[in-house]
Amino acid sequence: MAGRFIVFEGLDGSGKSTQILRLASKLGREKVFLTAEPTETAIGGTIREALSGSLKKTPFEMAALFLADRISHNILIGKHLENGRDVICDRYYYSSFAYQGLECDLSWVMHMNLGCSAIRRPDVCFFMDVSPSYCRQRMSQRAELEIFEKDLALMQKTRDKFFEVFSLLKDSENIKIIDASRHIETISEEIFSLVSEI
Ligand code: ADP
Repeated sequence: MAGRFIVFEGLDGSGKSTQILRLASKLGREKVFLTAEPTETAIGGTIREALSGSLKKTPFEMAALFLADRISHNILIGKHLENGRDVICDRYYYSSFAYQGLECDLSWVMHMNLGCSAIRRPDVCFFMDVSPSYCRQRMSQRAELEIFEKDLALMQKTRDKFFEVFSLLKDSENIKIIDASRHIETISEEIFSLVSEI
């Protein structure tokens, strides 16, 4: 049986990595493939440089770089799913819609990703929802903040954009909004029970 493709989305500091590790251990660490976007490839490296602010790229270039990175990533994801492993991915095309959709045409970014047959649709997307100020508080120990996380107002706009996108996709995608301000274990139990349904 093919594995399930599970995506986690949310602002930085919303608790994605924490819940991904918990879900992986509940599912059985050897039965899952953990991955993230941007990937560890050369294109992923260019994206990370731009996110750190050390390389200048326009929002259109960023949208195209993420698209190319995602197309390669799908080859790897596909192999693991076919081998029967569940794939858990930290960020996917919803992040492109929210972040690049703020600065270039959202419909273009959505069309490029959703209209591409080499980019698969997740079985479920968990959106870790926490207020930007709480995310910021949780990230206070991080040495470096990415360009999108420097400004609280921008984080709020990004969260709003995620919700705009989820409302556009509500009939075609399985998106679960998770109240991620709760205790780590409470959230983890809810996510595991939702995963059990698929
Ligand atoms: P992300 O991967 O979304 O950036 P992390 O999982 O790295 O977020 O979490 C950011 C910080 O918040 C970490 O220090 C983590 O231990 C803490 N954290 C995660 N989830 C919770 C939670 N539900 N309650 C309190 N702190 C949390």
